[in-house]
Amino acid sequence: MTKEQLIELPKIELHCHLDGSLSREFVEKRLGRPVKQEELSVSDDCTSLAEYLEKFDLPIKCIMDEEGLEGAGYDVLRSMSRENVCYAEIRFAPLFSETEDLKCDRIIEAVLRGLERGKKDFGVDFGLITCAMRHHSDEENMRMIHTAREYLGNGVCAADLAGAEAAYPMSEFMNLFSEVKRLGMPFTLHAGECGNAQNIADAIAVGAARVGHGIAMRGNSDLINTALAKGTGIEMCPISNMQTKAVSNMKEYPIREFLDAGLKVTINTDNRTVSNTDLTKELGFIQENYGIADEEIITMMKNAVDVAFAEDDVKERLWKYYE
Ligand SMILES: [Zn+2]
Repeated sequence: MTKEQLIELPKIELHCHLDGSLSREFVEKRLGRPVKQEELSVSDDCTSLAEYLEKFDLPIKCIMDEEGLEGAGYDVLRSMSRENVCYAEIRFAPLFSETEDLKCDRIIEAVLRGLERGKKDFGVDFGLITCAMRHHSDEENMRMIHTAREYLGNGVCAADLAGAEAAYPMSEFMNLFSEVKRLGMPFTLHAGECGNAQNIADAIAVGAARVGHGIAMRGNSDLINTALAKGTGIEMCPISNMQTKAVSNMKEYPIREFLDAGLKVTINTDNRTVSNTDLTKELGFIQENYGIADEEIITMMKNAVDVAFAEDDVKERLWKYYE
């Protein structure tokens, strides 16, 4: 597929962080001043997680009130519609926006209002994933999850665990996600991005339908077989993974291995603005560097429909794009 054909292809994105994906126009409007692209996006030769994380400072400031949260939901769907994303799952950590006057329920509602408005104006279907954070206590995370659970099926589609994986292994969150499972809330978990294979094994064991990144599964046939048997979705984010050094060099990136093994690989941006990317660019990148064929791109879109946390009627509509 040419770049034009990749833009035209109806696309699905399952791993996209709200704060890392706000457009420069939106950030400028919210901050009331011009912002340089390099304040928001890492340089092409970014190889450090520290540089990567710095770029979240400004966007976070834009989503500390309801107007910002609503505008952010709308803004991300607008960006996605420009490259024909037809269904997106967008994730964010509600507790980051909490203040004395603004609690979790109103935070989630504000983002959902923006997403609903975006869906209406741009025709992009969506699901909202609420992220528990690794550095937050179980108690805080559980409070957020209980609130988010109230919106499940009404905009919220799943939960996630995000944050510093290397410092906080998955084993510390088994109780939390056993409880999420008991509540009937589906979840994906960041695992094997900058942490080890055990985090992926634990994530699958506790009931994650998908894992974010999953890079540490590379070369681990036992774990790959487990993920195959469970039908675990793998949310790969190639350009972000290069920038944060989830692999030490481009050759080590396991997308070819995972596809050949038959894993349910999906391609995602992670953070559109911070990583200076979009889904078209990600697909171009894997075509060029890993010899990913057109049929494999379609397979990955079908995988995304398969493992999406969407209602059946939405999935039925999405399948039709790839028949
Ligand atoms: Zn992520």
